[in-house]
Amino acid sequence: MMASTRYNNRPLKSEEGEEKDYVGFATLPNQVHRKSVKKGFDFTLMVAGESGLGKSTLVNSLFLTDLHKDRKLLNAEERISQTVEITKHTVDIEEKGVRLKLTIVDAPGFGDAINNTECWKPITDYIEQQFEQYFRHESGLNRKNIQDNRVHCCLYFIPPFGHGLRPVDVAFMKALQDKVNVVPLISKADCLMPAEMRKMKDRIREEIDTFGIKVYQFPDCDSDEDEEFKQHDQELKESTPFAVIGSNTVVEAKGQRVRGRLYPWGIVEVENQTHCDFVKLRNMLIRTHMHDLKDITCDIHYENYRSQCIQQMTSKLTQDNRVESPIPILPLATPDVDTEKLIKKKDEELRRMQEMLQKMQQQMHEHDV
Ligand code: GDP
Repeated sequence: MMASTRYNNRPLKSEEGEEKDYVGFATLPNQVHRKSVKKGFDFTLMVAGESGLGKSTLVNSLFLTDLHKDRKLLNAEERISQTVEITKHTVDIEEKGVRLKLTIVDAPGFGDAINNTECWKPITDYIEQQFEQYFRHESGLNRKNIQDNRVHCCLYFIPPFGHGLRPVDVAFMKALQDKVNVVPLISKADCLMPAEMRKMKDRIREEIDTFGIKVYQFPDCDSDEDEEFKQHDQELKESTPFAVIGSNTVVEAKGQRVRGRLYPWGIVEVENQTHCDFVKLRNMLIRTHMHDLKDITCDIHYENYRSQCIQQMTSKLTQDNRVESPIPILPLATPDVDTEKLIKKKDEELRRMQEMLQKMQQQMHEHDV
């Protein structure tokens, strides 16, 4: 056993035992075709949960990059008056010639106040703002180069200390479930013994069912997949909610340098599958399910938002036509100059909205085909 050192991009043991920096996204090409490989991949990951639950440490462990080095930690007094704010960090990582533009969205301040009523609101607002921005760009002229900031996945950190979900966890996940893929995690898994962890997981799974919370569902495995793949898939599903451990330090365990936590009684290894589900989470996010998370975001969550928007626009249009249209209010009278101007303006407005609506319906149709 050796003293731990602060991690600074030094070689780490990969899952296969190779001594090199290895996150795992080089396998992304298996998920999509070569053209996308050339362009690179982008992925937006949100982390949410009370401060101190290990969000930054886990992100650093997952992507081997220190995204939060400039973070200012607030004291209790400052946290009371702090409102939930959204911060965004983007990094370009490259591995074996494959580029990944990763954006991490964090929500410092969430759950830290004395009164946490609706503390998830800034988070849901942020997700919707990204949809709105995409919707505007999609309806505009330059549709080829749309900047896509939609959030593809939200890792929600549940503390390991309680007995299952807390009311705030239920409320948070319910508020987000129709807007983003929510993946619940039990943080700081080294705080629980294996039997306690099993109990905690059972309880959380039960409560997710009872409260009808819609968390991200792994897609069914194709029947023609090989047995090994099917078994991994089964194990992945049975491990949820993933119990994770993060660490910013490299320690020496059994002669190998590994990312871990050094305690007086032993070492907890982040990438040891008997210690926690970190590897499963990383594989899921980066190697096997990134594409599906993006598809669900696009085809389900964004489509929900878009159809709601179109519905609202259509009903506004019909309302304007029925109630505000100046035409029936001015029967037979010769309109004066001001009224004529107003009619023209209204007509122009209506025409623009109708055009926009038609364009969107056409796009929806193209999308369906
Ligand atoms: P954040 O505020 O949620 O981003 O939390 P941080 O990542 O800053 O971590 C807060 C504290 O928890 C730090 O002292 C970390 O070293 C510690 N920590 C992070 N991950 C773990 C973990 O998996 N287990 C334990 N026991 N402590 C952790």
